[in-house]
Amino acid sequence: MAKVAAPSPPARTRVAALAGRATAAMSRALGKGEGSVIGGRVTLALDPHGLANLSRSRTVAVVSGTNGKTTTTSMLSAALGTVEPVATNLAGANMYGGMVSAMSSSRARLVVLEADEAHVPKTIESTAPRLIVLLNLSRDQLDRAGEVRMLAEKWRNSLEGFSGIVVANADDPMVVWAAQVVRSAVWVAAGSSWRLDAASCPNCGAQIDWNGGEWRCSSCELRRPEPHAFVTSSTVAARRVGGEVRVPLDLKIPGDVNRRNAAVALTAATLLGADPHKASRAIGRLEGTGGRFASVTIAGCKARLVLAKNPAGWTEALRIARPDVKAAVIGINARVQDGRDPSWLWDVPFEQLRGRFIVATGERGRDLAVRLRYAGVEHVFISDPVNAVQTAAQRAGGNHIEIDVMGNYSAFQDFRKVAR
Ligand SMILES: [Zn+2]
Repeated sequence: MAKVAAPSPPARTRVAALAGRATAAMSRALGKGEGSVIGGRVTLALDPHGLANLSRSRTVAVVSGTNGKTTTTSMLSAALGTVEPVATNLAGANMYGGMVSAMSSSRARLVVLEADEAHVPKTIESTAPRLIVLLNLSRDQLDRAGEVRMLAEKWRNSLEGFSGIVVANADDPMVVWAAQVVRSAVWVAAGSSWRLDAASCPNCGAQIDWNGGEWRCSSCELRRPEPHAFVTSSTVAARRVGGEVRVPLDLKIPGDVNRRNAAVALTAATLLGADPHKASRAIGRLEGTGGRFASVTIAGCKARLVLAKNPAGWTEALRIARPDVKAAVIGINARVQDGRDPSWLWDVPFEQLRGRFIVATGERGRDLAVRLRYAGVEHVFISDPVNAVQTAAQRAGGNHIEIDVMGNYSAFQDFRKVAR
């Protein structure tokens, strides 16, 4: 029988974790959400080494990147769940509070942690992970994020001397530059439809030349490494000495970007001992986390919810939106968690929506409407989200046609509140 429970952490950590869970329970009872973040914060306040203590004697995998980390974390958790029980943070609770909460509410020996990009160095230091997944780095909301190159440098510095496994995206120059300090990095072709943040080489500052999926610095040695794993139309393929292995991949979650995220998760799970076929089937059964890609009903209209938070995420979201449905809804807010400045709208290739009818909504829906006008996309602005969905459904041909309803962070949550 495999050993699936981690040994108990020190007494102080146990007491702190207990207090954290009590706080989380109270927070839930008061209707303040899941309470996992605040519970974790209480634990950390009582035991500042809680993260390290809870990680001891456990196998920790960390997943980070600007986009796709919640989905990839759930995929890796599902894949490793075929081996033994897994502890993981709740969707999006990716700072220390959420991590501590994940580990104190479960004794599972295997732990998969989603980490905010800026939290990667301290997460590595505290949890001594066996494996790290690095997906991509691009700018998040303009007024919130640190500079992309600075983050890449922090990742790189924290990976110096790292002795575990790194699974990293071969298609993102920032990630490659950060991860290449680990000699045995495993490269996956995880895609990069967004290249504006990697126009110049993180190593020398010269221009990066893109040629199809390939890229190389025009001046120094930095170039796309040969990927060890990649997706085909129906499989994940892995190269190894003497040939290629192919594992069927069939996902419920839509989008090419998620097929590539699945390839990353499958590779990581296999490196931690999962059977690739079982892992692939477990990933295939997943539906979106935290309402992502959920099929819902809003005021009687069928809708599919899509979340995108920054230019790179929107570029992928627009690809996921069904081209055969003639109308869609896009909601944009600019609250603190969204970033206050919506000028990033000008970086998103909304031109791709030409030929479709877009209902712009949300507190900054008017900014979106201006952007759509310049993009040559037929649109209307409707401030009420329910009314917006009804209008789009009508235009698409009726309530029975599932339309895409896309939103940035808080706009997405607003749609979830009215969805059933
Ligand atoms: Zn260079």
